[in-house]
Amino acid sequence: MKIHLLGTSAAEGFPGIFCQCEHCKKARILGGKNIRTRTSAIIDDILKIDFPPDTNLHVLRDGIDLSKITDLLITHTHSDHLYPEDLSMRLPIYAHGFDHPLHVYGHDLPIFLCRNRIGNTDGHIIYHHTHAYRTYEVSNYKVTPLLADHNKQESCMIFAIEKNEKSFLYGHDTGWFPHETWEWLKGKQMDLIILDCTNGHFPVRHNHLNIEAVKEMQGLFLQENILKKEGKIIVTHFSHNIGLQHQDLEDIFKPLGIEVAYDGKMIEI
Ligand SMILES: [Zn+2]
Ligand SMILES: [Zn+2]
Ligand SMILES: [Zn+2]
Repeated sequence: MKIHLLGTSAAEGFPGIFCQCEHCKKARILGGKNIRTRTSAIIDDILKIDFPPDTNLHVLRDGIDLSKITDLLITHTHSDHLYPEDLSMRLPIYAHGFDHPLHVYGHDLPIFLCRNRIGNTDGHIIYHHTHAYRTYEVSNYKVTPLLADHNKQESCMIFAIEKNEKSFLYGHDTGWFPHETWEWLKGKQMDLIILDCTNGHFPVRHNHLNIEAVKEMQGLFLQENILKKEGKIIVTHFSHNIGLQHQDLEDIFKPLGIEVAYDGKMIEI
């Protein structure tokens, strides 16, 4: 599987779209890997996770052909993960040159939001209402939504994705995993785990993870054999409030054998 990380910031972006704090000013000056947009990923050019408001920027920046996407998984309805109005730009009046439908998978709230904002799709967007801990055949992938520790107003999900003996966990947005999610993961062997590290050094591990919780999870993954010996952990979804630029994060995570995500990063498993 080829995993293309399109964005690696928390909701406001890093630098934040309106923010003039010292960290955002520094990120603007440093540029490069310090410029982070709202999060999403594409697997093998066809399976997309989340549809943030920075999608058009991702398409232009990384030369993406969005018409190739056949399936879209939605983690939750925070606006940095789902901007349904732009999904409607895929309908025939706005988009030409292809006729396959887009399959959208999510729990009840994202599906409701898409139906409500997009209206009649005339079969060009097909919705699939998914449930936690059930495995779905999505193209050639096996996808299992797992409950996250995130917004309590909805059943936010993270995803385990498997294909050809390879598997990875798309683990954000979430704080410390709920018990049922740990139970589901025991006995699985991941090649890659992508984790939320929104909270940096802040002593908070609910709704989002911090550095200490990521380290603790790494220990548990190894202890429980959830991560293969040659498997990788990558951290992402950073908030400007943590005050850590890309190099600061590298200095913290490299000695632990954990990779730091940046916009446009490609991973092959
Ligand atoms: Zn988010
Ligand atoms: Zn800022
Ligand atoms: Zn969120």
